[in-house]
Amino acid sequence: TATLDVEKIRKDFPILKRKVNGYPLVYFDNAATSQTPQQVIDTISDYYSNYNANIHRGVHALSQEATDRYEQARETVRQHFNAAKAHEIIFTSGTTHGINLIANGFSSELREGDEVLVSAMEHHSNIVPWQMLCERTGAKLKVIPMDLKGELLISELEKLISEKTKMVFVNHVSNALGTVNPIKKIIDKAHEFGAAVLVDGAQAAPHIKADVQALDVDFYVVSAHKMCGPTGVGMLYGKEEWLEKLPPYQGGGEMIATVTFEKTTYAGLPHKFEAGTPNICGGIAFAAALDYMNAIGFENIAAYEQELLHYATNKLKEIDGMVIYGEAAEKTSVISFNIDGLHPYDIGTLLDKMGIAVRTGHHCAQPIMDFFNIPGTVRASFSFYNTFEEIDRFIEAVKKAKMMLQ
Ligand code: PMP
Repeated sequence: TATLDVEKIRKDFPILKRKVNGYPLVYFDNAATSQTPQQVIDTISDYYSNYNANIHRGVHALSQEATDRYEQARETVRQHFNAAKAHEIIFTSGTTHGINLIANGFSSELREGDEVLVSAMEHHSNIVPWQMLCERTGAKLKVIPMDLKGELLISELEKLISEKTKMVFVNHVSNALGTVNPIKKIIDKAHEFGAAVLVDGAQAAPHIKADVQALDVDFYVVSAHKMCGPTGVGMLYGKEEWLEKLPPYQGGGEMIATVTFEKTTYAGLPHKFEAGTPNICGGIAFAAALDYMNAIGFENIAAYEQELLHYATNKLKEIDGMVIYGEAAEKTSVISFNIDGLHPYDIGTLLDKMGIAVRTGHHCAQPIMDFFNIPGTVRASFSFYNTFEEIDRFIEAVKKAKMMLQ
């Protein structure tokens, strides 16, 4: 069994003391956004209370302090993901921003006849920017299919990939199914054909510590708000040679070396991709969130969450008419389900009345819902601060909702 002091951990999260509709909150919507520990809240408060200033341009003390803390945060992120260089870490506003930045940069890399490969289980934010790119360039988007267990068919990838393939984009973990994809295999296969790989790590980052050098991935993107950090900040990791090669995404202050009306030259990395005043406090708080999670330890977090996952899965399966979508051999603590004949929205609404937060709908992954031929699912997603008692309450509430609706 996992070695986590959950009772102690729960004391770090003020929101877990809340009541919702008269019941103590059970927060099982962690895949949408995680909750924030006091240590991160204090970091945010400390920034605005003590050293709020614009960075990189100021000669005064506060600006220097804020700059130092922001660049230290970049170093913390670098270490966490084991990037070779701090300037390979670009602060973004989140996963969506990181993907759009690269998709935009690839406009100059693709031409008609080129192909890009996407997996069948992507979040809309890892589909739409590439469709827009294909429209601009005439490149063709092809889809790596999956099976009913929610696992990608790697044998199909081997048939789809060719010298025409310029880019493969796939999530490390599916937000709708929890599937952990074999990204190392996909990266190695893509590289055999000279294609670059972008991995959407939004759902993996809260559970798995990715090593970008060991993976040899070209781009890896995450959002801080899924891993105990604030909203509005995230990371794009890119290999130095790619980031040097790709054009800037946005123009503005901070990203230039010199500007005249005749010609502008761009700043070096990472500033080339960080136009305008960044989310300074957000970057610093992101690092505080990584420190918090690393102090607990990702192995401990993952082991405990797997126990929660198996406990909840087994209990749910005892309920008549239960259908669970995605039973990959390797998955994170996400359960997507429906109950025969009931609408997921109705179940979610009744659970909320009992103080239990889950997500219902298509989870920004409509192609997955089409694949299973359903309008949506109820999704419960667990974090390391959740408990077995909360799962018991959830199971009882699901049974009660079922009785009320049938
Ligand atoms: N990809 C995946 C797999 C996600 O789960 C999410 C968030 N639901 C995103 C991308 C988008 O992240 P954000 O909204 O933070 O940009």
